[in-house]
Amino acid sequence: MAKLLVVGAGFAGAVHARELANAGHQVDVIDKRDHIAGNCFDYVHDCGVRIHRYGPHLFHTSNDRVVGWLSQFTGWLPYEHQVVALLDDGRKVPLPVNLDTINAVFGTRLETADDAMSYLASVALPRSPVISAEDHLYSTIGKELTDLFFRPYTKKMWQLDLSEMDAAVVRRLQIRTDRDPRYFRSDTFQALPTDGYTRAFERILDHDRISVRLTTSFSQDDMAGYDACFNSMPIDEFYEFDLGELPYRSIRFHVSHHLAATAEGLATINYTDAGPYTRETWWHALPGHRVHETSNVLRTIEEPCCYRENSLERYYPIKDRDLMYQSLYERYAARAATDDQMFFIGRCGTYQYLDMHQVINQSLVHVSKWIARS
Ligand SMILES: Cc1cc2nc3c(=O)[nH]c(=O)nc-3n(C[C@H](O)[C@H](O)[C@H](O)COP(=O)(O)OP(=O)(O)OC[C@H]3O[C@@H](n4cnc5c(N)ncnc54)[C@H](O)[C@@H]3O)c2cc1C
Repeated sequence: MAKLLVVGAGFAGAVHARELANAGHQVDVIDKRDHIAGNCFDYVHDCGVRIHRYGPHLFHTSNDRVVGWLSQFTGWLPYEHQVVALLDDGRKVPLPVNLDTINAVFGTRLETADDAMSYLASVALPRSPVISAEDHLYSTIGKELTDLFFRPYTKKMWQLDLSEMDAAVVRRLQIRTDRDPRYFRSDTFQALPTDGYTRAFERILDHDRISVRLTTSFSQDDMAGYDACFNSMPIDEFYEFDLGELPYRSIRFHVSHHLAATAEGLATINYTDAGPYTRETWWHALPGHRVHETSNVLRTIEEPCCYRENSLERYYPIKDRDLMYQSLYERYAARAATDDQMFFIGRCGTYQYLDMHQVINQSLVHVSKWIARS
C-alpha cells in the first residue's frame, strides 16, 4: 500500500483519489478552496434554488465508460440543453445557428436543409487563402451572421478580433441547416446529477482510505512522507513560474435575485451585443434546481476577464495563434516527466480546456496505468 497525495478535489483529483483508494492505497486529498468539487461545485441557495458557483455545468458525453463510472455516485435527471441568442430588437433565436435562426435574422422562409445551404452559399463571401477565423466564417456564412453571433462573443471572451484568430479555432463551430435546437446534439448521454454535483463528489470521496483537507494549499514540504503526488494545481505555479507564466481567461459571475413570477423560463440566454457580458443563466429552469418552492429565483450573468483581474481564478487556457503558450506548457511538462513521484493532472495541471467527461476519462486512463505499474 502506498501513501499518496492528491492536490485538488475537482474531477481530476476525485477520480484519482477514488480509484487509488479502491486499489488499496491510502490517499490524502487537499484543496485550497473551502469546498470539494472544484469548478463543478454547486449548492442550494437560501432562496431554494440550486446554483453552480462557477457557471453552468451541463454533463454531456458519448463515453459509456465515463457514464458508468459516475453513475456509481449519482442518479441522473435527463436534460438536453438549449441556448438562445438575444438580438438587439429583443427577439431570441436558437444557437448554434440553425434554419430557424437564419429565417429570423434574414426574414426568409426557408423550409429545408437544401434551402438553407443554398441561402448560406448566396450570402457567403469566399476568401482564399483561408487563414484567419474571419476568413473561414465569411467564406461559409457571410458577414451578417459572423458579425452578429461570432465577432462580439470572440472579442468579449478572448479579447481578440476574428481576424487575429486562427481558422482552426472556428472550423468546428456548428452551423446547422435543420431545425435541431439541442446544444450538444452529437452526445448520446445528456443529464444533470439528481442531487447536484457536490453530492456526487461527497460520495466519490467517501471511502475509508480517503481523507480530505480543505483550505489547504500545496507546498513542496507537503511531499514528505508521500510515495507520489497527483497534482491538479497549475503546473507553472508549481515550478514558481521560472520558465514564464501560462495565462488564462477567467469569468466574473454576477448573481441577482428575481421574482419567480417574472423570471425567464429558459436556462441560458447568450448576448450578441458589444457589452462586456456573454450570457445569463436562470438556475430554476434546469431540472432539479428548484429544490424548494419559493417566490425568488436566481440569475447569473457572466463577464469574461483576465485571470489576474479575478483573484487568479484560471478557467480557459489561452490558445494563441503561434502556439507560444502551448510550447511553454510543453517545456514545463517535459520537466515534470523526469519526476517519477509528481504527476500533473486535470485542466490546470495539463493546461488544456477539458469538459467534465474528458477530465474523468483522462483521469481513469491515467490512474489505471499508474495502478498497473505500481
Ligand atoms: C465557466 C465554466 C463552465 C463550464 N461548463 C461546463 C459544462 O457545461 N460541461 C462540462 O462538461 N464542463 C464544463 N466546464 C469544465 C469543467 O469545469 C472542468 O472539466 C472540470 O472542472 C475540470 O476538473 P479539474 O479537476 O481538472 O479542475 P477543477 O475543477 O478546477 O479542480 C481543481 C481543484 O484544484 C484546486 N487547486 C488548485 N491549485 C491548488 C493548490 N495549489 N493547492 C491545493 N488545491 C489547489 C482548486 O481549488 C480546484 O478545486 C466548465 C468550466 C468553466 C470554467
